[in-house]
Amino acid sequence: NVSVVLFTADLRLTDHPPLRAALDAADAVVPLFVRDRAIEAAGFAAPNRRAFLDGCLADLDAGLRERGGHLVVRSGDLVQEVCRVVTETDAEEVHMAAGHSRFAARREERLRSALEAVGRRLCVHDAVTVAVPPGMVTPASSDHFAVFTPYYRHWARTPLRPVVRAPGRVVVPEGAGGERVPAHGDHVGVSPALPPGGESQARKQVTAYWRRGLDGYETTHDDLAADATSRLSAHLHFGTVSPVELVHRARRHGGAGAEAFVRQLAWRDFHHQVLAARPETAHADYRTQHDHWRTERTAGADIDAWREGRTGYPVIDAAMRQLRHEGWMHNRARLLVASFLTKTLYVDWRIGAAHFLYWLVDGDVANNQLNWQWMAGTGTDTRPNRVLNPVTQSKKYDPDGTYVRRWVPELAGLAPRLVHEPWKLPAADRADLDYPDPIVSLSTGLDRFRRARGKEA
Ligand code: FAD
Repeated sequence: NVSVVLFTADLRLTDHPPLRAALDAADAVVPLFVRDRAIEAAGFAAPNRRAFLDGCLADLDAGLRERGGHLVVRSGDLVQEVCRVVTETDAEEVHMAAGHSRFAARREERLRSALEAVGRRLCVHDAVTVAVPPGMVTPASSDHFAVFTPYYRHWARTPLRPVVRAPGRVVVPEGAGGERVPAHGDHVGVSPALPPGGESQARKQVTAYWRRGLDGYETTHDDLAADATSRLSAHLHFGTVSPVELVHRARRHGGAGAEAFVRQLAWRDFHHQVLAARPETAHADYRTQHDHWRTERTAGADIDAWREGRTGYPVIDAAMRQLRHEGWMHNRARLLVASFLTKTLYVDWRIGAAHFLYWLVDGDVANNQLNWQWMAGTGTDTRPNRVLNPVTQSKKYDPDGTYVRRWVPELAGLAPRLVHEPWKLPAADRADLDYPDPIVSLSTGLDRFRRARGKEA
């Protein structure tokens, strides 16, 4: 007999409960990935994530081939394609990981009904794309936690399932045909320094980080120049590494660095449980409704300067240029550019979130939209009116200006004292710099923010 394992945001062989269950249930398994037309149509499949995805699929296919099988890739309507494969191979069951967005929940329901209509079973497995699934820990009075600290206390006490070993052998039935699995790299509009996707790469990165980075995580994770975070976010997004396995490994490793790292993984689950309970927060304000945002129509030039990294604030421009070049940005920098756009420029957070989703290789509806809302003061932050000052933050987290110089070569020759505030240069030297003046003064931005929020209060 035959089972299908449908890969979605879990493109790995190690610690893959749906694959394990499919192998246990059948003599042969069809490892299937469907390029879902609905995701393509929604514009969510931006060039960086498409390219990274192709790397993941090629690596998954290679891993399956080492085990005697191969990946079957199809394109179209996911439900129709799964049903076709089930019919073609006479499979009895389909195994897949639970998804937590509204889109994933609806798709899963459609798939379940379509399979039931032809007498087949859909088996959905939890704790594959997150460590602690939405709904598993809840406060007494609600279906989700709205504040991180109490969530984390419960999350940290929740027992995790054991890690599932990668299979030794995978037998794919005859007749399970699909498309050529594309190689990484044949994409246009991709960031020049995009990292490669795939489980092999993720595992190498984890090993290297455990050796060199994890112990220092607590003290270095905010240091912009040190670039000392794990850079595992895209792998977590595509599931080339398992969050359950990462938590187990970090806890085994122990120490303050590992503990701080695990706490960040809990932030990821926190946002997934908010989005699962309040799917509308992908677009709508979670807590406080704000209506006076500036938009493309009223702040077009400011928004363009922000997107292109020419606001005149060195750390903001460095970060926005890093985003385009690498498809990734340091977390501290994400906080700064989000505060700058939504508070200093008072631009609607959805405009910033959309730009991030276009470029980020880890771009993820739960973590992107809800982190944006956190910084915009519409989300779960308990201090919604905090404004991050890009100059003091830049001096604190990039004291000698190494991060700024790396991404804004126009300022490479400036001393640490001036690199965060080039407008303080004597006028003659200032004129020689090919770098803009600030598009707005911080005090003007702060006044506008306070007026707008006062108006709404
Ligand atoms: P590390 O510091 O090594 O952390 C390990 C893992 O923990 C990360 O890979 C990530 O999965 C998780 N994590 C860390 N910080 C957070 C956080 N604040 N919220 C949720 N999970 C976290 N992360 C995304 O994965 N996708 C996004 O689209 C995304 N958009 C963001 C937008 C804004 C405005 C902000 C402020 C943050 C956003 N983040 C997003 C969270 C965070 O910036 C990235 O996860 C992190 O920078 C990735 O780098 P890393 O893997 O080296 O992280």
